[in-house]
This record gives sequence, C-alpha cells and structure tokens, in this order.
Amino acid sequence: MITVRLQEPLARHTAMRTGGPCEAWVVARTDEDVALVIHDCRRASWKLTMLGAGTRTVVRDGGQRGAVLRLGGELAALDLVAPGAGAPMPALVELAARAGRGGLEAFVGVPGSLGASLLHDDGWDELVDEVYVLQRGARRTMSLPDVRRKQPVVLGARLALSERDPVELRREVDARWRHARPGSWYTPPKPVGRQRPLDVREVLASVRLPMVRLREVAVPALAPELLINLGHGTAADLLLLHRSAIERVVKVRGIDLGSRIGWMGEA
Ligand SMILES: Cc1cc2nc3c(=O)[nH]c(=O)nc-3n(C[C@H](O)[C@H](O)[C@H](O)COP(=O)(O)OP(=O)(O)OC[C@H]3O[C@@H](n4cnc5c(N)ncnc54)[C@H](O)[C@@H]3O)c2cc1C
Repeated sequence: MITVRLQEPLARHTAMRTGGPCEAWVVARTDEDVALVIHDCRRASWKLTMLGAGTRTVVRDGGQRGAVLRLGGELAALDLVAPGAGAPMPALVELAARAGRGGLEAFVGVPGSLGASLLHDDGWDELVDEVYVLQRGARRTMSLPDVRRKQPVVLGARLALSERDPVELRREVDARWRHARPGSWYTPPKPVGRQRPLDVREVLASVRLPMVRLREVAVPALAPELLINLGHGTAADLLLLHRSAIERVVKVRGIDLGSRIGWMGEA
C-alpha cells in the first residue's frame, strides 16, 4: 500500500523541523510500491527524492519539487539478518545488543535510518554481505562500494553480524552511549599522515563565533558543532549561521571545515 499526501510540509519529516512543502509526500512499503512510484514519477517527469529519518538533511523554506519518498512497512523491517533501509539505526543497535549480535555497536548515537547510513556513514565495510537496491524495476544486489558510487534507491541489506557475549556487548553499548556525542554539522579536514583528526568542537570553541543566535536558530554554547531550531527557525537562518561559523574558522584558524548536512529543496 502506498500513502500519498499532496503539498505536505517537509518540516514535519526532518530533525531540524524546517522546510516548505513537497508536491507529493509518498510512503512505499514494498519493492513493487517503490518500482511503481519511480515509474509514475518518470512518466510524469517528476523529480523523486529519497528521505530517511531526515537527520542529515535540512529542507529549505521554499520546499521541494516533485515527490519525496520514505520507506515503511517491510522496507523498514527491524531484522538483524536482512533489515529494511527504512529501519531506525537506534532500534537496530539496541536489538543487536539484546540478541548478542556484534558489529552495530559502532553506530551508537547515529539517529538516522539504515539506508542513509549505508550510503553516508563510515564503519559498514565488514558488516554488510550485500546491499539490496531497486534497479530496472526490481530488487537487485549491489556491493557497498558500488552503492556509495552509484547512490541508487537502497531497499535494505544482508548483514554479517558476529556472535558476542550479550553481557559484555551490553556493557560496551552502554559505555558508548555514555560517551556518545550528538552528530556534528561539520566534518574536520582529513588528517595528514599520523595526524589525529581535529576535534571539531574544540576548533569551533576556540574561535569566537560571530553569531550564536539568529532569530529562532542558535548554536548551543557547550556543543558549538550543533545547530538547533528553537521553534520556528528557518532553513535560511540555519544556513547563514552554519556558513558564518565555517568562514570564521578559516579566518581565525586557517582550517577548512566541511559540512555534513545535505540541503534539499528551494530557498
Ligand atoms: C544528532 C545527530 C547525531 C549524528 N551522529 C552521527 C554519528 O555519530 N555518526 C555519523 O556518521 N552520522 C551521524 N549523524 C548524521 C546522520 O544521522 C547519519 O548520517 C544518518 O545515517 C543519516 O540518516 P537519515 O536517515 O537521517 O538520513 P536523511 O537525512 O534522511 O538522508 C540523507 C541522504 O540519504 C538519502 N537517502 C536516505 N534514505 C535513502 C535510501 N533508502 N535510498 C537512497 N538514498 C537515501 C537522502 O536522499 C539524503 O540525500 C548524526 C546526525 C545527528 C542529527
């Protein structure tokens, strides 16, 4: 069953709660649903954009043309052997800890969906046997490097988790939660040689940011690597605050911080 809502505000579906409407908000639950949505969008010359949990995406205030697709039902299955791409990572991490299945503890603190994490986050190479993608109207398998290169619609994956002592694994997951840091909006420059990666929080804290609040968006004093929406903040203000921080760090420390956030839609 496919759910379609027209002129759906995307602010409802992203962690930052910004974003104007998309022409069609679509939830697909089976491979056939996804194939049909892709087919219909192509026939209507509509742009199709995937959205997972929306923790790595800021939608601009003007909204998004075309259809925005989220995966649900069996395509969000919480299964430790073959989870769906829509499955929430925190739930998969917890399920694996309880079942004594090792490997996902590396993703403690990642609030996104499996599909987006496979595409964007480090740490999956040894944990994935194969990735399931939709190609030419059907489910096919693809290697992780190819998925990263081709960026197809990800449907799920076959995981290769290891047997671990549940008590020991529980202790490790809890320890990682205690030290988990919310995801930074910035990426440090790649370390050269034996250099340790720069601590983005330390770098941002070392330069007096020109702006820490802009209308309804702000930079938390103790976590300058984050940006928060205080209620009715706009994507435009988030972008301004984000850019001014990056420019300030270049000016004061000569360091080029990258941005981890994807921007979707029109201004
Ligand atoms: C508080 C916080 C903590 C975080 N901590 C970490 C962390 O510790 N480590 C880390 O690596 N990242 C972290 N992140 C970044 C982010 O959560 C991860 O990258 C996560 O994997 C993104 O998942 P998502 O479902 O929210 O992605 P979304 O924002 O929904 O989507 C990201 C991109 O993936 C595409 N996409 C989504 N689903 C699919 C699919 N099924 N098929 C094809 N394309 C798809 C979208 O089109 C979009 O371009 C954090 C983010 C936040 C806000």
